[in-house]
Amino acid sequence: MPDEIHQGGCLCGAVRYRTAGPALRTLACHCRFCQQMTGTTSYANSVFPIDSVVFTGMLSVYDHRSENSGKAVHLHFCPKCGTTVTLTFERWPEYRAISRGTFDDPDWVDIVAHIWTESAQSGVMLPAGVDCFERARVELDGTPNTPIRHAAPVPARRGH
Ligand SMILES: [Zn+2]
Ligand SMILES: [Zn+2]
Repeated sequence: MPDEIHQGGCLCGAVRYRTAGPALRTLACHCRFCQQMTGTTSYANSVFPIDSVVFTGMLSVYDHRSENSGKAVHLHFCPKCGTTVTLTFERWPEYRAISRGTFDDPDWVDIVAHIWTESAQSGVMLPAGVDCFERARVELDGTPNTPIRHAAPVPARRGH
């Protein structure tokens, strides 16, 4: 459905957006950056071509230097309420990530993979039947990693 439209925005409503077309992928990331950025256990986000999302309202930007890749990750957040609505990436300038929780209906899209599960917090469960990667889906040199699919939900951290 090339003309499918989804909408969302920040907590206070000053920033709104519309996405056109399907998400390229929707991931839940358990890396320490995502934990600190969100202040919680993980960051679920949908990746879109950068031109497929139109915003209204003003976003502020914080630039974070990734320890893993050495490249900048740009956090775009509402200056009024602080919601991080979207990320852009020095490494992938043609894409942006939309924070799944900011969609008016986050359930329109399914999480297809959990990544960086090796740093998942204690108490976090990984679902059955979804690709789980201990680290990134793809190494910095482009080598794809092999996912694990669990038959039943499992704690992300064994022994916790
Ligand atoms: Zn806001
Ligand atoms: Zn992450």
